[in-house]
Amino acid sequence: MPQFKAPITDIQFLLNDWLAIDKHYQDIGAEGMDAELVNEIIAQGAKFAEEAVAPLNREGDEIGCKLIDGSVSTPPGFPEAYHEYIANGWNAMLGNPDFDGQDLPHSAAVPVHEMLSAANLSWRLTSILTESAVLAVDKHATDDLKAQYLSKLISGEWTGTMNLTEPHAGSDLSLLNSKAAPQADGSFLVTGNKIFITGGDHDWTSNIIHLVLARLPNSPAGVKGISLFLVPKFLLDDKGEPAQRNSVGVGSIEKKMGIKASPTCVMNFDAAKGWLVGEENNGLACMFTMMNDARFQVGIQGLGTAEASFQGALSYARDRLQSRAPQGTQQPEQKADALLHQPDVKKMLLTQKALTEGCRALAMLYAQQMDVEKYTSDERRSQAKKVIAFLTPICKGFMTDMATEVTNIGIQVYGGHGYVREWGMEQLVRDTRIAQLYEGTNGIQAVDLIGRKLTRDGGDMLKATFDLLSSRVAAMSDIGKQEQASALLQEWNDTSKALLGAKSVDLAGAATDYLHYSAYSILGVLWLDMASAAAHSSNELIVKGKENTCNFYIKRLLPRKDIHKSVILTAADDLMALEDQQYDYV
Ligand SMILES: Cc1cc2nc3c(=O)[nH]c(=O)nc-3n(C[C@H](O)[C@H](O)[C@H](O)COP(=O)(O)OP(=O)(O)OC[C@H]3O[C@@H](n4cnc5c(N)ncnc54)[C@H](O)[C@@H]3O)c2cc1C
Repeated sequence: MPQFKAPITDIQFLLNDWLAIDKHYQDIGAEGMDAELVNEIIAQGAKFAEEAVAPLNREGDEIGCKLIDGSVSTPPGFPEAYHEYIANGWNAMLGNPDFDGQDLPHSAAVPVHEMLSAANLSWRLTSILTESAVLAVDKHATDDLKAQYLSKLISGEWTGTMNLTEPHAGSDLSLLNSKAAPQADGSFLVTGNKIFITGGDHDWTSNIIHLVLARLPNSPAGVKGISLFLVPKFLLDDKGEPAQRNSVGVGSIEKKMGIKASPTCVMNFDAAKGWLVGEENNGLACMFTMMNDARFQVGIQGLGTAEASFQGALSYARDRLQSRAPQGTQQPEQKADALLHQPDVKKMLLTQKALTEGCRALAMLYAQQMDVEKYTSDERRSQAKKVIAFLTPICKGFMTDMATEVTNIGIQVYGGHGYVREWGMEQLVRDTRIAQLYEGTNGIQAVDLIGRKLTRDGGDMLKATFDLLSSRVAAMSDIGKQEQASALLQEWNDTSKALLGAKSVDLAGAATDYLHYSAYSILGVLWLDMASAAAHSSNELIVKGKENTCNFYIKRLLPRKDIHKSVILTAADDLMALEDQQYDYV
């Protein structure tokens, strides 16, 4: 297994040199926050990820989870690491201070979240869903429910789950048919069968709080008839402590390709007692509070696994001696040169590095916008909300597609040694693959981007995103790079606007290409912006590393956008032409 080292230098460059985090905190009025504090939080997060979480990753994959007498047991060390995590307050980083949260800016939390996903994706997943559940309860639950559940979810004393999926209802939640029957005391009895529920059961905490989508009697068909319910594993006694077992149980846990140490549970709700969260029949909107947060977090999962794979590939390429380099012998004292000197291997490593660092910049820009949304209340807030809405499917879809590519390159750098288990590179491919599927498949993200985010309100979210990126470009100090970035941004904006008014079927056919076109274009702007900022760094490795990686991205990866662009503006006729039987000639 590659030894995970938190990418602190790059994160600090982004925070301090690129985002000018001190000034950002002053501008938005984030009292008590400054660069020194955020750097300290990140340093401590790095230590925890490296020392407490990463060492459990390999064994977690090998041992996996077990269902014993209806209860899930997680691999050795997992519960203890979680207890340390919550004791040190990591779960409460973003929580509402009225419920014992630390109310930190997202820019302080996102780097820690990336490091945790990189260190051990399986371990990290349950706390991601808890953080997302916190948002839904905080925003939509009654004061009474909040008083009972919110502090303990924020601290992590109890974890949360998200129960959407049913065997016949995946992407299309209008098909779900779990039921909720109202009771005289104001509670509901929830009955239904949910599948694929992450952290549905485990041995970490004394209670688990399930957020469940179900239908009330006589509710309208489709998504307008879905409500959200809070269903605890254990009902609370008069003192607010877990007491009587609720009638919700685990039917089985999935055997799966990766994230083997994350319990993916079939959940049976058999007239389980629960309480309404939000308005009746408005459950999907409430659940979206949770899902939007989780979608970004899934993007961060991709970023983390990509970083871990890059680190493994780089260290192997430095050590492994094979062949002489075509540019001339590099290590005459050895029988062969290290892989790192082969141009094709360099290209693989640079692809990993350019995509990973580009996506980290995108994630930090998104975090900065979440800070603006959190701390300001004027026009800046409404603009930030639009940017976040537009970038969410791009972060989720692109960062996870990119992670599958980057982790596969990781195997390739190792040759056959990457395919066998010993080095841990294949685990990263298996673990990260799910991120393209859950929280809305990447196909659904693409449809959301082109069909809703791009077209809503005449392209208002596109404009907010374009304006934000334009303001960054206007502030660039390198005039040559500024011109390049400006032209790139303008081309993306023009192409995007040309899609407004296109037929739905053509938009749906162009969806994934548009998502990738947008991501490669935006990453191009961010790379030029980063390299421009890096020129002023006091760290010579950052100056040269960013400049050379930017050049590589612009020359060898950015052209990928043109292939995507070439099909965006064409009709979907070719996709529709092939009839059913013509696929397999039978
Ligand atoms: C390990 C794991 C953990 C999970 N954790 C959770 C969890 O905690 N809670 C939870 O509720 N669910 C969870 N899920 C479920 C996950 O969110 C769903 O699998 C996912 O939403 C896709 O649904 P589906 O599998 O039914 O695929 P389908 O909806 O059947 O989709 C199959 C394919 O068709 C495409 N497709 C479907 N509809 C459209 C459309 N309208 N436009 C374009 N393409 C379309 C999809 O993109 C996909 O490629 C988890 C799944 C796994 C495997």
